[in-house]
Amino acid sequence: MSTHNDYNLYLEQLLPILVEVSNAQDWGPKELSKLVNKYPSSDGVFSKDMLIQAYRKLAGTRGIPPFQELVIQRLQMKPTRTGSGVTPVTVLTKPFPCPGKCIFCPNDIRMPKSYLSDEPGAQRAERNSFDPYLQTYNRLQAFQNIGHQIDKVELIVLGGTWSYYPEPYQIWFVKECFRALNDFGEQKDDRKKIEEYYSEMREKLKDVTTAVVHRPVPGNNPEINKESLAAYQVHGGVLDKSYNKTVSEIYTAPEKVGGFDQYQAADWAELEFEQKRNETAISRNVGLVIETRPDNISEAEVLRIRRLGCTKTQIGFQSLNDHVLSMNKRGHDVAATRRAVNLLRQAGFKIHAHWMPNLYGSSVKLDQEDYQVLFTDPDFKPDELKIYPCSLIESAELMQYYERGEWKPYTEEELLEVLTFCLTHTPP
Ligand code: SF4
Repeated sequence: MSTHNDYNLYLEQLLPILVEVSNAQDWGPKELSKLVNKYPSSDGVFSKDMLIQAYRKLAGTRGIPPFQELVIQRLQMKPTRTGSGVTPVTVLTKPFPCPGKCIFCPNDIRMPKSYLSDEPGAQRAERNSFDPYLQTYNRLQAFQNIGHQIDKVELIVLGGTWSYYPEPYQIWFVKECFRALNDFGEQKDDRKKIEEYYSEMREKLKDVTTAVVHRPVPGNNPEINKESLAAYQVHGGVLDKSYNKTVSEIYTAPEKVGGFDQYQAADWAELEFEQKRNETAISRNVGLVIETRPDNISEAEVLRIRRLGCTKTQIGFQSLNDHVLSMNKRGHDVAATRRAVNLLRQAGFKIHAHWMPNLYGSSVKLDQEDYQVLFTDPDFKPDELKIYPCSLIESAELMQYYERGEWKPYTEEELLEVLTFCLTHTPP
């Protein structure tokens, strides 16, 4: 429901809910769901956000017992999300070229490489102009509104190949995430100014871009429609314009003219200032995650990302089979993955690997063999793992292979066979 802006209009339904939640002996998500369905408003079921807001205002009045933190926890949405005590704040970088040519990778030009614009996290980033301050601040606000602790925050920076973004952009991006954490705790708020800036720039860039004039807020611009995007959408079957060329044309070049490249830049001293400020902030950063490719990791790069404050890297292994890597135009071999993991591990980073079954050239049997290597070869053994079964994505080059009958997604049985194997061969 989005229409419950004023809880005073719904007191009749809200009060019994809040009284019951406050007085309940046993409580769980099921009980909450039963209760909100029992007392719907004329506009539908109340959101948990609304219930928490109302509880904060009404506790101790109108028959509701005095305020208890426990009640907030009971009303919390998805309580497992911050179960570890650390709140994950995920932010996306802007659409930008990637050096990879991986045939399975989506080419959604509204997004940083490899992300799809229909994912909720990606849409959130797009609504925030991919701006790090806006994304971080708004996420903290959302978590706080639903009653989560926000004193320990893990920042997860996703999008394309981090190491390939210009260094001043990387420093600025992290600095702005930290600044948002710091400002949030001090109840300072720079969002309006930043939003106005983007709005002005959008206006300015209108005259510069001739094609799709939707930078920097694609989701918010009424001029954007399916037809105008289609002109730039790269479909697997007609891969006539690459993602890199397209995003350069519609984002990178106009941004230079508009001055974005200067706005989205900072130096090390500015970052260090915000990092220092964060040491005593209310919302403290306890982990910073970036994602990159094995062949982008070198000794110098490891030191550089450490200086940014990074503690964990999400790194695309995808496969531990050279033949499969090469068939998918991955652009690096298994030796590069070994080197990268060793360097990162020596520097104390946590390794969060990405691994993909069902790649072109693989099979159920090969995937099972590959997976075993992940946890038996001491050069790998990641601390965390995401399994991304390769999917048929319209904008990926792999679509051409599918259309030629050279690759197809696993059947549900094959997929289950691989995934259950993975689960049973993952060490505790
Ligand atoms: S390196 Fe990652 S983001 Fe770049 S093309 Fe390959 S899969 Fe996509």
